[in-house]
Amino acid sequence: MTIRDLLRPNIRNLVPYSSARTEYKGKASIFLDANESPFDNGYNRYPDPLQWELKQEIAAQKGVKPEQIFLGNGSDETLDLLIRAFCEPNKDNVLILPPTYGMYEVLANINGVECRKCSLNEDFSLNMKRLLNAIDQNTKIIFICSPNNPTGNSFEFTKIQELMKAFNGVVVIDEAYIDFSPKPSFIKKLNEYPYLFVSQTFSKSISAAGLRLGIGLSSPEIIQIMNAVKPPYNINSLTQGEGLNCIKDRTKIESDIATILAEKQHLFNALNELEIVVQIFPSDANFWLVRFENADLVYEALKQKGIIVRNRSNQLYCENTLRISIGTPDENQNLLRTLEAINQKTEIK
Ligand SMILES: *Cc1c(COP(=O)(O)O)cnc(C)c1O
Repeated sequence: MTIRDLLRPNIRNLVPYSSARTEYKGKASIFLDANESPFDNGYNRYPDPLQWELKQEIAAQKGVKPEQIFLGNGSDETLDLLIRAFCEPNKDNVLILPPTYGMYEVLANINGVECRKCSLNEDFSLNMKRLLNAIDQNTKIIFICSPNNPTGNSFEFTKIQELMKAFNGVVVIDEAYIDFSPKPSFIKKLNEYPYLFVSQTFSKSISAAGLRLGIGLSSPEIIQIMNAVKPPYNINSLTQGEGLNCIKDRTKIESDIATILAEKQHLFNALNELEIVVQIFPSDANFWLVRFENADLVYEALKQKGIIVRNRSNQLYCENTLRISIGTPDENQNLLRTLEAINQKTEIK
């Protein structure tokens, strides 16, 4: 089985669009080949379709080759393109592990691809036996979110390796929260598993959700397919430039992560003191999933005070939970003061 065999037949035979900037890549003094406006305002020209400058910086930081990187208009675009390239509508399926990130199922539905669900154990760990049983010859992609959203836990490295050995398809590890985690990234396994696809993002640790930049890391073969399927100029030039500025500032990124992690610990200690808190689930991410005695009540009371958290109570095995992102020190202090007041009122009752 090769990567080519896994592709949808129409993608296997696809002749990609050839833009002016893919046909002539060199330097020149006069460009009259793309029907652009000649009047320079900083963005009158089409952007680099393959974002080489940005990819070279990311490659250097992550210890991969630029040819192993795909940049999407958010992770959403990256994951959508993966499904579009590998899954034949009404025939193939993808596998997800609830409770997990809701976007995988939406993307499968948009593409007319069956979204098969294989739930985690009740303690949010992987159930390998159930997982391997859920796969069939039409399963093309397995989405594993680690650290997982909304639960916060990471999955065992060895179990995922076992899965990659057993499964003849693409394994996506969504590492949106990996920079907050003490556990290693799967990036170091890319050269060993050509069907491994690691998805990271500018939206969390790099403080750039508004730019819309998703980072896909995989084998050059899979990246080449993604490049052929994507819209030619999917990352605009302002985003390419600002993304480069953001990721080059390692000092800021690392100090922001350190602040979040210190605040996360502080929040844990304080939450632990509240009687209304039943359980705080282990988290390797920039949020806590917290079980309350009555999550809806706490959600409404926080909302009354202008503090919005995510109510995850209707997710599998997440009854009475709120997902709370770590904010600035001031925001967290405000949250804690409000929760303490809610706690006292509840006690009086
Ligand atoms: C936040 C998040 C992302 C980021 O998505 P973008 O489209 O890059 O903003 C991806 N996956 C998970 C699980 C997330 O929680």
